[in-house]
Amino acid sequence: MEQATLGVIGGSGVYQMEGLTEVKEVKVKTPFGDPSDVIVLGILGNQRIAFLPRHGRGHRIMPAELPVRANIYAFKSLGVERIISISAVGSLREDFAPLDIVIPDQLFDRTKDRPTSFFGNGLVVHISFADPFCPELSQVLYNAAQKAGARTHKGGTLVVIDGPQFSTKAESEVYRQWKMDIIGMTAVPEAKLAREAEMCYAAVAMVTDYDVWHPSHDSVTVEMVVQNLLKNAEMGKRIVRYAASEIPAERTHCPCPTALRDSIITARDRIPAKSRRDLGLLLDMYLPPTKRMPVAKKSKK
Ligand SMILES: [Zn+2]
Repeated sequence: MEQATLGVIGGSGVYQMEGLTEVKEVKVKTPFGDPSDVIVLGILGNQRIAFLPRHGRGHRIMPAELPVRANIYAFKSLGVERIISISAVGSLREDFAPLDIVIPDQLFDRTKDRPTSFFGNGLVVHISFADPFCPELSQVLYNAAQKAGARTHKGGTLVVIDGPQFSTKAESEVYRQWKMDIIGMTAVPEAKLAREAEMCYAAVAMVTDYDVWHPSHDSVTVEMVVQNLLKNAEMGKRIVRYAASEIPAERTHCPCPTALRDSIITARDRIPAKSRRDLGLLLDMYLPPTKRMPVAKKSKK
């Protein structure tokens, strides 16, 4: 049964979503383990929302440890069609100042060893990912951010690193030379997995500081960054509230809902039964129904 259509992933500083009505919490089990936390369901504007604090309540899970496949799969199993990601980022350019909002349109993946696909183990799927963020949802978020009163930038390249350490000055300078605009630790693999699950994914990236390249860096205190994080968290929630009332009912203006249509490469009769079963939620639309597998009998020796 569909329980939500809009998923919201709260980043650093955003551990709950105020203003929801008919709130209930659900614990969702997935073939990929448990999500970061229980998922909070409720109504916001005209949307049924599923909210998940990315790092868990109390901020317990670091970026490279996040159970992202479980998080995205759990949203999918609740009926979620679109995901708004809220995250804190560093800025790699002077004109993206602390407290600004960026709605990124490109990603650059510098992570290592994170599971970035639902597929594998005998099932090969190649989705198109040239434009990693949903254009329609990004536009809704841009409008909402402006309405909420934030200084907002439309478009920008988000470079994603593993962390948990921040960059060195040398790394930060290289990212700037590569024309990256903001730096974060979580949009990969979230965006990749959301696309594989045919969900729209767009990000509200909230600038907390100028990373380490900026001449002012040495005078920036942790306290200042935390203050920005808290102010941004309030702004992020306000943006979600505005966005929730502006999201169109049908998804007809973006490629996300049919991402898997021509992407399943493995011959149909070679797809392993376990993958077929575990990923039925994603595959059922495109593959013939699964036959009931006969229960294997243990042979006695
Ligand atoms: Zn979309």
